[in-house]
Amino acid sequence: MDDSHAMPAMLRSLLMTSAIALALTACERADNETTMSTDTTPSQATSQDTAPAAADPSGLAANPLMVASELPFQAPPFDRIDDGHYQPAIEEGMRQHLAQVREIADNAEPPTFANTIQALERSGELLTRAASVFFAMTSANTNPELQAAEQALAPKLAEHSDTIYLDATLFGRVKALYDQREQLDLTDEQRFVLERSHEHFVRAGALLDADSQAELRTLNSEESSLTTAFSNKLLAATKAAGVLVDDVARLDGLDQAAITAAAEAATADGHDGQWLLVLQNTTQQPVLAALSDRELRQQVMAASLERAQQDDDNDTRATIQRLAELRARKAQLLGHANYAAWSIADQMAGSPDVALKLLTDTVPAATARARAELARIQAVVDAQGGGFQAGAADWDHYAEQVRKAEYDLDEAQIRPYFELDRVLHDGVFYAAELLYGITARERTDLPVYHPDVRVFDIFDADGSQLALFYLDPFQRESKMGGAWMGNFVEQNGLTGTLPVIYNVENYTKPADGQPALLSFDDTTTLFHEYGHALHGMFSKTTYPSVAGTNVPRDFVEYPSQFNEHWALHPQVFANYARHHETGEPMPQELVDKIVRARTFNQGYATTEYLAAALLDMAWHTLPADDASKDVEAFEREALARYNVDLPAVPPRYRSNYFSHVWGGGYAAGYYAYFAAEVLDHDTFQWFGENGGLTRENGQVFRDKILAIGHSRDLAQAYRDFRGKEPSVEPLLQHRGLK
Ligand SMILES: [Zn+2]
Repeated sequence: MDDSHAMPAMLRSLLMTSAIALALTACERADNETTMSTDTTPSQATSQDTAPAAADPSGLAANPLMVASELPFQAPPFDRIDDGHYQPAIEEGMRQHLAQVREIADNAEPPTFANTIQALERSGELLTRAASVFFAMTSANTNPELQAAEQALAPKLAEHSDTIYLDATLFGRVKALYDQREQLDLTDEQRFVLERSHEHFVRAGALLDADSQAELRTLNSEESSLTTAFSNKLLAATKAAGVLVDDVARLDGLDQAAITAAAEAATADGHDGQWLLVLQNTTQQPVLAALSDRELRQQVMAASLERAQQDDDNDTRATIQRLAELRARKAQLLGHANYAAWSIADQMAGSPDVALKLLTDTVPAATARARAELARIQAVVDAQGGGFQAGAADWDHYAEQVRKAEYDLDEAQIRPYFELDRVLHDGVFYAAELLYGITARERTDLPVYHPDVRVFDIFDADGSQLALFYLDPFQRESKMGGAWMGNFVEQNGLTGTLPVIYNVENYTKPADGQPALLSFDDTTTLFHEYGHALHGMFSKTTYPSVAGTNVPRDFVEYPSQFNEHWALHPQVFANYARHHETGEPMPQELVDKIVRARTFNQGYATTEYLAAALLDMAWHTLPADDASKDVEAFEREALARYNVDLPAVPPRYRSNYFSHVWGGGYAAGYYAYFAAEVLDHDTFQWFGENGGLTRENGQVFRDKILAIGHSRDLAQAYRDFRGKEPSVEPLLQHRGLK
C-alpha cells in the first residue's frame, strides 16, 4: 500500500486548496513519511557572493525568480538561483498577489467571469513561479538555509490564504456570478471553475456570519497548533520508544549492516556499547522479519503499539481527543453532520458513506485471507516446535520464511535485469510511446540543481514539443525519503505555458562507472512517478487551478498507480528486463516468481490498511455533541464495530501515532489510496476488455482522463470513459482476495 505523504503536508494542503495554482506534487511511493531533519548537510555548495544593490535592499532587481525565465519552457535558471533568492521573491509574490486580488475585489465594474474568476486565475504569477521551485528544492535538495526560509514562510502563507478566502468583498463578486451562472454565457470548463471557486470560498467559511467566522478562525488556529503539537510529540515519543539492547547476541538474525546501524544509533543517543532499535512510523517494524529472539520481537512490537501513550509530555491522547472534538465543531459551523462529510464533499467519493462502503465491502475477503495466512504461519511455528500462538510480533518473521519457501525469490538474482537507463528508455518511455505516441530525448544544455538531475524533451505523436521532464533518481542526504512528482511550470491555457515536470526517486547511487541496478519495487516506482508526470504533461485545460494533477486526493494516485501495470506487461517487460551485461532476457522462471509473489501477504497488508482507514473514518464521523472520546476505548470499539479487530493484525497506524490524520493533511482521507486503486485496476480491466496495450486505447484514456485535469466532474468523467461505475472486483482479484 502506497500511503505516505512525503511533502510537507501542511503547506501542501494549504497551497493546493488555494486559488494559487501551485501544483506542488502528487505523490510518494515509499513508506516512510519523512520530516526533514534540521541537521541535513547540503550536498551542493551554493554561491553566496551576490552583492545586494544599495538602492534595492532585498536585491529584487537581481533576483532571477522575479521575471519569467527566458529558457525553453520557462525552465528554472538554476545556474543563477541562489538559496537567498527564494524568500524575498515569495514575500514579494504574496505582496503582489494581494494587490492584484484587492484590485479584482474593488473593481468598480460589475463582476464578470473575465474580471473576477479569470482575473484570479491569472493572479499570483510571481508567487506561483517562486514557490514552485522553492518547494521542489526544500523537498529534493534542502539545507539549513532553505529550511529556515520554509519555517519563516509557513505562517505567512497560511495567513495569505485566509486573507483571500475570508475577503467579503471578493466573495461578494464570486457569489454574484455563481448565483447567475445559468444566465451567463460560459464554456463547460468556465462554469465548472466558477462552481469550484465558489465552493472553495464556502468551504473556507465565506457564507458564515461574523461571529461564526471569528469562531472558525479560532478553531483553525487551534487546529493548526494542535496538529503541529501532535507531530512534535509523536516525533519525540517515537524516538523515546526505540528499544535498547545490551547484548548483541539478542540481535541474532539481523545482518551486519543493521547491527552496525543499531550500534551507531545507540552511541548517538548516549548509550555507547549498546544497540538501539529505532522505530519507524508504521506499526510493523522492519527488524521483526529478521530477529529470531521472540521476547525481543514482542518488546519491539509493544514499544511500537504503545508509543505516545506513556502518560508523559509526549502522550498524544489529549491532543487527539481535542482535535476530534474541534473538527466536529468546525464541520457543524460549516453546516455538515461531521468532519468527514465536510472533508469528503469536494472529493470524488462525495460522501463518507461512499468511502465507508468501499472499505467495509472489502473487510470480509481481506480478513478471511489474513486468517488463512496466519494459519500458514502457525504451521511453520508448530513445525519448528515453537509451542506458542503466533501474534503480530511474529508475523513478519515467519511470513518471510513462508515467502522464501513458496516463492524462492532472491533480490540479488533479479537486480541485474533492471538497469535504470534500460528501465527508463526501454520500459517507461517505451510503454508511453506505444500507448500515447510520445517520445523522449535527453538534452544537456539546461541548468540543473544537482549534477545527478537529467532533463528530457518530450515530443508528442506529431513531433511537436509537449513538455520538459526532469529526473532526479538518486538518494542523498539533502533529499526527503520516498518518491514524488511536481511541476516547475504548470500547463496553463491562459498564458500558453507548457508543463515542466519533475520526478524524484531515492535509488541507491552506484559507485562511479557502475550501472544503477534497481529492485522490482524501484522499477515499479519509476513507472508510478511517470504516471503522475503523464497526468501533468497531457493536461489541456484553460485554467491553471484545474490543470494536470490539481485533482482530489482520492483521484490523484489513480493515473500513477495505473501506469504501474505496464511494468509487468509481457511486451513491455520483455523489452526492458534484460541483463545489463549480456543483454539476455530474464529467464521465464524468474518472471513467474515475480508475478506470483505479488499476492503474497496481501491479506495482512489489506487488513492492516483497512483497519487504519476505518479508524480514521470512525474518528471523523463523530457528531459535534458526542465527539470527546477516551482514545483507547473508542479505538477498541471502532475496530470491533467494523470487524477488523484481529489481534495478530493491528491497524497499520493506531490512533496515538496516526500522523496522516492528526499531523498531516489526510484527516478523513486515508481511504483515498484504496479509492484510487479501485480506479486503476478497473481501468486496466477496461484495457484488457478492449484489446490491451494499443495506441487507440491509450488515446481514449489520454483524452478522457489524463488530459482533463479537474476541469469537469471526475466521477462523471470516469463513467463516460468506462461506460459504467468503477468496480472493486479487479482490485480484489489483483490482491488475491477473490
Ligand atoms: Zn503517487
